[in-house]
Amino acid sequence: MIKNLHTFDLKDKRILMRVDFNVPLNNGRVTDDFRLRAVVPTIQHCLEQSAAIVLMSHLGRPKGKIDDDLSLIPVGEHLADLLEMPIKFSDNCISEDALDTSLGISAGEIHLLENLRFHNEEAENDSQFSMLLAKHGEVFINEAFGTAHRAHASNVGVVNHFKQKGMGFLMEKELKYLKDSFDHPRRPVTLILGGAKIDTKLSLILRFLNKADTIIISGGMAFTFIKAKGQEVGGSLIDEKMISSAKQIMDSAKNDRAQLIYPSDFVCSRNMDSKPKGVYSWREIPKDLMGLDIGPKSIERFKKIISSSNTILWNGPMGVFEKESYAEGTKIIAEALSEVTEAGQTTIVGGGDTAAAVRSFGQDNMSHVSTGGGASLELLSGETLPAFTALESL
Ligand code: AMP
Repeated sequence: MIKNLHTFDLKDKRILMRVDFNVPLNNGRVTDDFRLRAVVPTIQHCLEQSAAIVLMSHLGRPKGKIDDDLSLIPVGEHLADLLEMPIKFSDNCISEDALDTSLGISAGEIHLLENLRFHNEEAENDSQFSMLLAKHGEVFINEAFGTAHRAHASNVGVVNHFKQKGMGFLMEKELKYLKDSFDHPRRPVTLILGGAKIDTKLSLILRFLNKADTIIISGGMAFTFIKAKGQEVGGSLIDEKMISSAKQIMDSAKNDRAQLIYPSDFVCSRNMDSKPKGVYSWREIPKDLMGLDIGPKSIERFKKIISSSNTILWNGPMGVFEKESYAEGTKIIAEALSEVTEAGQTTIVGGGDTAAAVRSFGQDNMSHVSTGGGASLELLSGETLPAFTALESL
């Protein structure tokens, strides 16, 4: 059993909270604050309960060295704006000064520690480093879903030093939608897959062959499946190494619950930077063209499947959504999901690219948009994540 925030008496307690503030920065400014906004309710709850909060996070991959471009200072400033309150900051997460600041903050105050990954010991799950981090708080709360699939000092090692430990509202929501909602799902269940990399989604497909009623295999990964059927796909994206896995999945699907569905038409071009040349059926992609988005027939079919499903999980864009000419399929699927959410259907969007796409189209009213990329794929694939295991108490 993992304890949640409501089980603790937080009054006058110092909470050490691991958050995932690994957000994109440009010229020292946060360009997407989705992960910050996702933990604001947890922070506000703790402050309302008269707790003091010490926040710790990583940012990027500084590989154990101080890198000013990966400082959490701009993130702290952005969070201070969101919360409309000042935030104390320490430039070394384990220094005596940082610890003094944590011991000195009062109820209702926040202290943010500098990037944990400026120290190699964080990713090594070093026990001494964990012990030093633990000194910052009396209660440990983990809200960092994006790193839940990693066993690091700040989410695993540190936990050994706390009697009072648990997860915050965000972690609870991630578990509810990415794990519990598939134990007894509201059927029909549809899994929509897209994107370029099949290998990262392989375990998810295998698991959902028996969990989902329909699996839509779309985006760039569709071409490896179409090729595995023996059909040429012009210059479209193919992952040669995954053709045999695609064949196995198609064979296995004959006896499994899920029906596999592929796009029937594609918007094609010579390359991602040139204008679309036209829409072609999956059987007629010219040799010198590549499919870069799904076509109108596929969009209509997918929309019908979406509206007749009760639980929809989406991971991976339908096309090269970063280019306006090839963003249509992803945008319309995002709109379709948003509409059925309004109608009461459960819609879950995996983290990473898909979550970014959904936000860029302004369709973020889904039942849940995950804050974790790799972590969401692992949890959905049925794996046990080290951050959750560490929080389990007898
Ligand atoms: P993934 O990380 O596997 O979810 O892949 C995301 C990437 O897939 C995005 O950057 C998209 O541009 C890319 N993608 C989606 N559809 C296609 C396609 N038809 N051809 C090439 N790349 C694609």
